[in-house]
Amino acid sequence: MDSGRNNPANFADTAVLVVAAGRGSRAGEGLPKQYRRLAGHAVITHSIRRMAAALPGATILAVIHPDDAQLYAACTEGLADLGLRAPAYGGATRQDSVRAGLEVLHEDISYYKIVIIHDSVRIFAANELARNAALAAREYGAAVPACVLSDSLRRVRPDGMSDPADRSGLFAVQTPQAFRFDLILEAHRRAAGEGRSDFTDDASLAEWAGTPVRMIPGEPSNFKLTHPQDFAMAEALLLAKLGDIRTGYGYDVHAFTPGDHLWLGGLRIPHDHGLEGHSDADVGLHALTDAIFGALAEGDIGSHFPPSDPRWRGARSEVFLREAVRRVVARGGMIAHLDLTLVCEAPKVGPHRDAIRAEIARIAGLDIGRVAVKATTSEKLGFTGRREGIAANAVATIRLPL
Ligand code: MG
Repeated sequence: MDSGRNNPANFADTAVLVVAAGRGSRAGEGLPKQYRRLAGHAVITHSIRRMAAALPGATILAVIHPDDAQLYAACTEGLADLGLRAPAYGGATRQDSVRAGLEVLHEDISYYKIVIIHDSVRIFAANELARNAALAAREYGAAVPACVLSDSLRRVRPDGMSDPADRSGLFAVQTPQAFRFDLILEAHRRAAGEGRSDFTDDASLAEWAGTPVRMIPGEPSNFKLTHPQDFAMAEALLLAKLGDIRTGYGYDVHAFTPGDHLWLGGLRIPHDHGLEGHSDADVGLHALTDAIFGALAEGDIGSHFPPSDPRWRGARSEVFLREAVRRVVARGGMIAHLDLTLVCEAPKVGPHRDAIRAEIARIAGLDIGRVAVKATTSEKLGFTGRREGIAANAVATIRLPL
C-alpha cells in the first residue's frame, strides 16, 4: 500500500505543466497529434487525466498554441475539478512554451515548491513515476526519468555506411521531469536572457544552469506518441483496459401540442406542431440519455432530472445527455456507440438526419462515426400512426474499465 509519503495532501504545493504547444501532425489526421482521439478521448485529455490521478491536489496548467484554443476547450470541458486551470499560450520553441507556463504559474497567489513538466503526448506515465519524480525533486532539486537503451547503437556516416557506437552509460530521457520551482524558473529566465533557445528538455537546461539532475528509473511503457504505429499501439492498450462492455436501452414518448417547431436530436426543426413536455421535450435526446444511464446502471433521466424540479422547466435536453456522458467519463470509460430510432409520421426526419447525427456527436463529444440516427413510421398504426406524438428508441454501447 501507499506509504505516508504518497499522501495526496502532499501535492497541493505541486504544479504540473503539460506541454502541448507543438504543431507536429506527422502521425496523421491533419490535427496536431496531442488532439488526436484515442479510445474516445483526445491525447491531451488522457495525459491531463493521468497527471491528475497521479498527483491529487496538484494544479495543472497546459501550455497550448493559440490556434488550438477551441480544440483544447472542447477536449477539456468538465476537467476543472481535476485542478486544471485556464491554459497558457506557448512560444516558438518547446523551451519558450515551458518558460511561458512557468511565468503564468509564478503569477499565482499560491506558491509552488515543485513543478512537474510533462509532454502531453506521453499518456502512459504510471502514477508512481510522477510521484517519484516529485519526491526526488523535493530531495535533490531536479529529477529526470530515463531508461536503459535496449537496442544497440550505430553512428551513420555521410556516405550512408555506419559504425558501431558504444551505448554503455547512455539512457533515453522521458518526462515527467520534476524540479524545485524556483530553480527551474530561474534557469529558464537565464537561458532566455542569454539567447539560448535550443534545449530540447528541461533537465538539460537545469544542468546548464548549474543544478545537478537526479536520474530516476523511467518506464518503457511511458513511450512518446510519435509515429502512426505508436497511435495504433496506444489505442489497443487503452481499449484493452476498457473491457467491461455494456449496452443500455432507452425509450421515450412525447405528445404533439400546438406550436410551430419542435426539438429533435438536439436540432430545432420547424413543424406544424410542437412537442409537449417539461423540458424542451426532445424525445430523441431523452431516449439516448436513458440508454446511457441504463448502460451505467445508474438510474434514469427522471431520477437525475425530476420533472418536479423547476430547474428543468424549459431546459435544453443537451444538458441531460451531457450529464450522462460525463458520468461515463467520470468512471474512466468511453461511449463506443449511440443508436437512435425515431418513430413518427411527421416531421420527415430524412432531410435532418445528418444534422441530427452531427449535433448528437457534438453534444456527446464523439466522432460522428459513432452516432447512428434512423427513422421509421408505424404504418399509420397506433399513437404515432395517428400523428399524436413521437416515440424514440435508443441503444448505447459503453466501455468501462474492468
Ligand atoms: Mg422525455
